[in-house]
Amino acid sequence: MATMPPLTSMMDNNPYSSLLSHIDSATSYIRLTEDERNVITSPVKELKVHLPVIMDSGQIEVFEGYRVIHSTNLGPSKGGIRFSMGLHLDEVRALASWMSLKCAVTGIPFGGAKGGIKVDPMTMSNGELERLTRAYVSALEDTFGPYKDIPAPDIGTNSQVMAWIVDEYERLKGDPSPGVVTGKPIEAGGSAERDQATGRGVMVSTVAALKSIGLQPEQSTAIVQGFGNVGSVSALLLQKQGISVVGISDISGGYYNPDGIDVEDAIAYAQNNNGSLVGYSNAKYVDADSFLTLQADVLIPAALENQITINNADQIKAKLIVEGANGPTTADADPILTQKGVLVVPDILANAGGVTVSYFEWLQNVNNYHWSESHVNRSAEKTIQDAFETVYQTAVEFKTNLRNAAYILSLQKLSQAVKKEKAKSFKKRRRRRLYQKRMRLKQ
Ligand code: NAD
Repeated sequence: MATMPPLTSMMDNNPYSSLLSHIDSATSYIRLTEDERNVITSPVKELKVHLPVIMDSGQIEVFEGYRVIHSTNLGPSKGGIRFSMGLHLDEVRALASWMSLKCAVTGIPFGGAKGGIKVDPMTMSNGELERLTRAYVSALEDTFGPYKDIPAPDIGTNSQVMAWIVDEYERLKGDPSPGVVTGKPIEAGGSAERDQATGRGVMVSTVAALKSIGLQPEQSTAIVQGFGNVGSVSALLLQKQGISVVGISDISGGYYNPDGIDVEDAIAYAQNNNGSLVGYSNAKYVDADSFLTLQADVLIPAALENQITINNADQIKAKLIVEGANGPTTADADPILTQKGVLVVPDILANAGGVTVSYFEWLQNVNNYHWSESHVNRSAEKTIQDAFETVYQTAVEFKTNLRNAAYILSLQKLSQAVKKEKAKSFKKRRRRRLYQKRMRLKQ
């Protein structure tokens, strides 16, 4: 039997340690057997690949890639692909596990996975990125599959990268297989609204959470960290709900305007500026460290892990944090926020809009069907709204915070699945023993 990962105490900002700590925290409310905990904390597969790519200079560079499949008990594994220089196995492992928990909490019949390549996509030409992506697919050809393991976009990847993935996979297999990846462009079999999906889920969670603490969107202000897919769409949709977005930020720093930022204007600026807010002059520049502690009712971290830590948690002024990013709050910052009375909508609920619409895209692909934009949006909003209410009720029932509640619900589902697998394998062993006994009697 595999040994249990140790119970965690103070964190080292390793996202996998954070995940284990959140599991420990939730299991002080529900019982998991040692077997169940072992299975749930042990990803089923961890792959590391080396990808030689011919660069534009004619030289070969070798890149490191990963794919971790955390679980397949509830369905094929599902999870994004990240292109980032800082990528490491523990990060991918944590992200894969969060995908399993996210699917379980929203009731989506997928398991969890995550992958990525150690690369800074901003330093690569389009041709180099395409060759790198195709090399990754070729190395993982037998892992991916519409009923096995289905990637999607994450940091540093987009619908164009997904289009290369499906194209390379179909070329290798020789068959059309649009369900092998989600987040594709519409013309390559993508779903309406996938680009907006994660931000839409963040918006739905924010509005529901604001109401739960007696605040109306029209009287609330928000700051959003990260201005990529999740951050920019969240900011735009929050503004459409009447929330005044007073701060936005990206890797270039923060931009603050207490009278509200015109998010459409900022998106147009970034689009014409190679995706960056650098030099944005319709707001005051603030450095990255002060940004998270600016005055606002809502804080949406939508960039990276480990942004809210023991070093800044007690200076946060927001009453509500909605985690657009995965793992933006370290485990040891969580109790500080709870003590301050800050309501935190955890990542596995707040950013589950992305995997929800990925599931709708996959359903359309494998059934050769098309959903309208309004059908996708309505269904996605209902999924997140229902999940929010279930998590909220669980928090009330267990007298705990939303993160513990979301973990309680998803761990209960995953442990049920482990129990079922165990029962199935007992039955199989019993049938085999009976068959062997009958054969012996015949001889
Ligand atoms: P993205 O690459 O589109 O955007 C990332 C943004 O973060 C960029 O604006 C970048 O400049 C900014 N950023 C990077 N470092 C920063 C820093 N130190 N401070 C401030 N900003 C910084 O990525 P994305 O797809 O928007 O993903 C963002 C987060 O949301 C990640 O944690 C990802 O795992 C999570 N997420 C994404 C999806 C999805 O559908 N794309 C779904 C669920 C969760």
